[in-house]
Amino acid sequence: MPSKTKYIFVTGGVTSSLGKGIISASLAKLLQARGFSVAIQKLDPYINVDPGTLNPYEHGECFVTNDGAETDLDLGHYERFLNVPTSQDNNVTTGRIYQSVINKERRGDYLGKTVQVIPHITNEIKEHILKLGKNGSYDVVITEIGGTVGDIESLPFIESIRQLKWDLHERVLFIHLTLIPYLSTSGELKTKPTQHSVKTLLEYGVQPDILVCRTEHHLDQDLRKKIALFCNVDVSCVIESIDAKTIYEVPLLMQEEKLDEVVCKKLNINGSPDPDLHKWNRFLTNFNQPESDIHIALVGKYVELKDSYLSIAEALIHAGAKNKTKVIIHWIHSSKLDKENNVGKLLHKVSGIIVAPGFGSRGIEGKINAIKYARENNIPFLGICLGMQCAVIEFARNVLNMKDANSTEINLTTKNPVISMMEEQKKLKNMGGTMRLGAYHCKIKKDTLLSKIYKEPTIQERHRHRYEFNNKYLDEFENNGVVFSGKNTKNQLMETFEIPQHPWFIGVQYHPEYKSTVENPHPLFVSFVKASLHAAKNSVETAVLSSK
Ligand code: GLN
Repeated sequence: MPSKTKYIFVTGGVTSSLGKGIISASLAKLLQARGFSVAIQKLDPYINVDPGTLNPYEHGECFVTNDGAETDLDLGHYERFLNVPTSQDNNVTTGRIYQSVINKERRGDYLGKTVQVIPHITNEIKEHILKLGKNGSYDVVITEIGGTVGDIESLPFIESIRQLKWDLHERVLFIHLTLIPYLSTSGELKTKPTQHSVKTLLEYGVQPDILVCRTEHHLDQDLRKKIALFCNVDVSCVIESIDAKTIYEVPLLMQEEKLDEVVCKKLNINGSPDPDLHKWNRFLTNFNQPESDIHIALVGKYVELKDSYLSIAEALIHAGAKNKTKVIIHWIHSSKLDKENNVGKLLHKVSGIIVAPGFGSRGIEGKINAIKYARENNIPFLGICLGMQCAVIEFARNVLNMKDANSTEINLTTKNPVISMMEEQKKLKNMGGTMRLGAYHCKIKKDTLLSKIYKEPTIQERHRHRYEFNNKYLDEFENNGVVFSGKNTKNQLMETFEIPQHPWFIGVQYHPEYKSTVENPHPLFVSFVKASLHAAKNSVETAVLSSK
């Protein structure tokens, strides 16, 4: 058992979607700024072994770690806030816990015993929670419990953290995130739902130490006192979390409310009294005071739910701030672009086009049409994963004249399978966790746009795919002006696709969005936004010239 690591548990009450992930990440940021090493993990109460098999409409984006874990999107927030990579150990679901316990039972590890929720499932959960702190590399481990207190599914998790309090005593702290609703008819903030939520937690044996209260209006001192009195916490431990303009302001709002201070006091740790947030503040200044704005289209088939493309949207925010520009995203449903005469109507206002990752055939033709428009009109284009594959198809059809070119994911019998299933994927039967996942090396060709952007001969980027460029067509593409500027030299997989005659046209088989953070915006997105700004300026100049 680790000797010093402190454990903070964040639960949620009253309703879902209160932003536990952002509060956890903000607290972690403040503790990190005080000089502590901090890790965050998420426990998800659903039965899927991981979110990799979920449709984005169900649960938003699936975030992929360096070690190839398909995880909850909150891990993306953790990385973007802390600038530290996460791994398989930072996310566990009920499904994975049960899978592990059942495997142990089959192996005979519990021979002679009845296997039960308590102690077998709870022990497995506790073991998982403590794993991150085990080698002593973290001063603080923050654990976010998914779901809302009172849900049937989250009970074993709450029971596990109750037990951990008794195992680790003052090294454990409970933070409960709750909602203080505002009744507009009477003009009042109401505390009752919070009182009930804390009562439910108390029934399970957990007394929260700190309450973080989501609210649309400021909490006055009397209201804070009332909450403190009914919920058995100090008044200083009633923390207001008012709606923020951007999630990136939340660490500062939490600092104003002294969340980090009360946490340090309760856990009996000090750290630097003067948190170092200068990089964070520099980002916020650029974000809040942009010198220009830029319109970018994000073409995808899940655009109704913005969380489906969360990391891409955040990477654009980081890259925008770096360019002192506000990025205005136009979320465009790919199936709206299926008819070619819609394309110009929907895309003429934008100065850059991103075609998003995805699976299956819905909206594919729209994506291909958007790419054709970007290629023919010199509009900066970034294709990510399926977006890159569509760029290959578009080039094959419209430049190389292979009218039926396709991916075998979309059309198994095409005569020109320019994108085809990777060899190692063909023999797989299970869908869960079997894609080509995680970070792989990619070698960059000299004197290409990619080499100018990365300024490194070899990079590592994260992947999540089953299909790849079909090397049978390599010569034909290269002889017609395409440059495959990034390559995995181990398996000859073409990682990137460039058209040098175009001002900025790049498709990447990998997912650069997963690696962009506030303090380290991704160079590909930074360059794409810069190129889009340039394109916007050029088109204004052309318009002025032609009106003279
Ligand atoms: N469906 C494609 C593949 O599996 C692309 C995946 C993606 O965009 N993440 O290769």
